[in-house]
Amino acid sequence: MPEKKDRIGFVGLGIMGKQMAANLMKRGFEMIVFNRSKKAVEELASVGAKAAASPKEVARNSDVVIDMVTDAPDVEEVLFGKSGVSEIARNGLVVVDMSTNSPANARSFASRLAKLGVLFLDAPVSGGDKGAREATLTIMVGGKKDVFERCKPIFESMGKEIVYMGESGSGQATKLCNQVAVSINTLATCEALLLGASENLDPNDLLKVLTSGAAGSWNLANLGPKIVKGDFEPGFKAAHLSKDLRYVMQLSEADHLMLPGSSVVYQLFNSVLAENDGEKGTQVLAEVLEKLAAHETLSKQEK
Ligand code: NAP
Repeated sequence: MPEKKDRIGFVGLGIMGKQMAANLMKRGFEMIVFNRSKKAVEELASVGAKAAASPKEVARNSDVVIDMVTDAPDVEEVLFGKSGVSEIARNGLVVVDMSTNSPANARSFASRLAKLGVLFLDAPVSGGDKGAREATLTIMVGGKKDVFERCKPIFESMGKEIVYMGESGSGQATKLCNQVAVSINTLATCEALLLGASENLDPNDLLKVLTSGAAGSWNLANLGPKIVKGDFEPGFKAAHLSKDLRYVMQLSEADHLMLPGSSVVYQLFNSVLAENDGEKGTQVLAEVLEKLAAHETLSKQEK
């Protein structure tokens, strides 16, 4: 007889969460969902998900609760707020936080939930909205190894590379390392295209060269064409990368570790937020650089 699948509860159906929940359903997991705004709930309900009125109701009707909300205060609200998961805590319930915050938050969530008998994994992801859509995310997991093993089929339904990183907080620590590289690559992409525009190079030919040689990166391949088109719709919101870099800065301060590249990008994203562009995609950094360089944008040149 096939092993019975865990019933999954999903809280937070934004750019990432909605696609991740949909992929779990495609793999045959029974799904109950909660989101504050209702459009995504209706979309998933139309393909068979149950809709819940609160995270508490999600937890009551599932074996594993996944959250994919914005930041640590949001995870706090989902887990410990009014009508939160903890109100229905029971031995053996598993909570998996897949949003990005910090190792300290993960350790705190894990120990507070452990007192209620609830098991916790921090399992942030990388691979962007494309990875969420195509179920090709990289998932980095911290927490107890046996809980990780139990949840592996769940992770494999949303991602391709699933890596156990160690005790609670290791997933978030790994994700912050990832964000150091992502943020500096974002800056590299924007700078290379800016120099190309200044030298009147054809941006599409330039991208062809850059993406196929040693300079190639996820950022260049995915954000480069958007910058050239002047498309600043979010796959990954600028406000979220700024949040991640804030946590990187906290770790660098606590560890007395100099991270000059990340510091510069963090400061540049302060300028993005000052322009009220936090809800745009991270590629909007190109606009900040263009202003600093007093150089016309690629998209404006094309018009
Ligand atoms: P998003 O589109 O802004 O979605 C955030 C979701 O969280 C929304 O469904 C929102 O509900 C919900 N939410 C926020 N605060 C909440 C609260 N206090 N209580 C209940 N629900 C709350 O963000 P996203 O791009 O999906 O990212 C989610 C997380 O994944 C973030 O931590 C982000 O850093 C990380 N991440 C994102 C990407 C990416 O490429 N997008 C990649 C890797 C990791 P409403 O709809 O009601 O506002």
